[in-house]
Amino acid sequence: MSKGTPSMGKRNKRVHVLCRRCGKRAFHYQKRKCSSCGYGDTSKLKKYAWQQKSLDGVRLR
Ligand SMILES: [Zn+2]
Repeated sequence: MSKGTPSMGKRNKRVHVLCRRCGKRAFHYQKRKCSSCGYGDTSKLKKYAWQQKSLDGVRLR
C-alpha cells in the first residue's frame, strides 16, 4: 500500500460531492453533510473561532 501518485488512480469512490450551499466538493455522500459549511447537519454555516484572524491578539466580538 503506497500513498503516492500511483495510488491516486485508485481513488474512484465518490466520498464527497458538490455541496449545494457552499459549492465546494465537500458534501459527504454517505453522511449527507458538508464538511466545509455543515450543510445537512446544521442550518447555520459551520464556523469556528480559530478561523477568524485576531488583531493584536484581541478577540473580535
Ligand atoms: Zn458546503
